[in-house]
Amino acid sequence: RTKGYQRGSHTLFTREMGIEIRERAVLMQHLHKAFDAERLYLMYQPQIDLSNRRIIGFEALLRWRTDDGQMIPPTDFIPLAEHSGLIISLGAWVLRTACFTMMQLLEKGFELDRIAVNVSVIQFRQPEFIKLVERALHDSGLAPHYLELEITESVTMNGAGMFEEALAGLKTLGIQIAIDDFGTGFSSLSYLDKLPVDRLKIDRAFVTQIDTSAGPRIAELITQLGKKLNVKIIAEGIETELHWDVLQKMGCDEGQGFLIARPMLESAIEPWLRSWK
Ligand code: C2E
Ligand code: MG
Ligand code: MG
Ligand code: MG
Repeated sequence: RTKGYQRGSHTLFTREMGIEIRERAVLMQHLHKAFDAERLYLMYQPQIDLSNRRIIGFEALLRWRTDDGQMIPPTDFIPLAEHSGLIISLGAWVLRTACFTMMQLLEKGFELDRIAVNVSVIQFRQPEFIKLVERALHDSGLAPHYLELEITESVTMNGAGMFEEALAGLKTLGIQIAIDDFGTGFSSLSYLDKLPVDRLKIDRAFVTQIDTSAGPRIAELITQLGKKLNVKIIAEGIETELHWDVLQKMGCDEGQGFLIARPMLESAIEPWLRSWK
């Protein structure tokens, strides 16, 4: 993308950008088709209590495998879906599917606390969003406290008043709210204090940072902030025993990451739950 710029060639730069826009449009068409053809599916990553290894639940993560077997990461196609508006129906499908999966696990007798579902700002802005959540819960039979919506920090901070109102509405349903990728956006702390948030998610970047000379500074700050605000803290991206150890010692309640398990297919959940010690 920056190649043309580096060469000082304005023409090349524009041409490459043109290609990129065309590619995006093609990708968007493919994404719409993929949704129709059910080439999109969910993977589930376990979340555990770091102090006693108890499995708390799962985060649902969206996947797209194209017809030729290529995996497109959600960080690539979610923005596309947001741009085209597809995220509204796609997000509704994610929400319902996750609720039904969770309900099945509970009915099978697994003792889990929650299913976490990522929600895009575009979905959140929809006036009908609360009704959608209500319907997903009702149709699946899932009690509201089992559902946690993960909202990214950037979402929370623009359109403050509207956001507060929407959150309050969702909270009256009895669901839980987590702020995702916490520490990477631009939070207003005074604002955070007022929001009905149940959990802050330490972004993976700050867990990775534990290995560097910067150490666990930011993760620790977020954990302390959580204690003061009386909200739970969960860390994502736990990849090593050291990460787990350091996070647990600083008082981080919960975590998820490749060390514990990679996101898995729904069919892999039960065997995994039985094998976890
Ligand atoms: P996120 O919500 O912060 O999800 C955590 C991401 O970190 C996931 O990437 C997960 O696979 C990855 N991860 C977890 N543990 C580890 C680890 O130990 N090491 C490494 N390297 N990675 C780890 P994924 O599944 O690629 O999702 C990326 C982002 O896409 C998510 O970040 C979320 O913002 C978005 N996303 C995924 N599914 C959905 C969805 O259904 N709706 C919306 N709106 N966004 C979604
Ligand atoms: Mg998330
Ligand atoms: Mg996250
Ligand atoms: Mg993240």
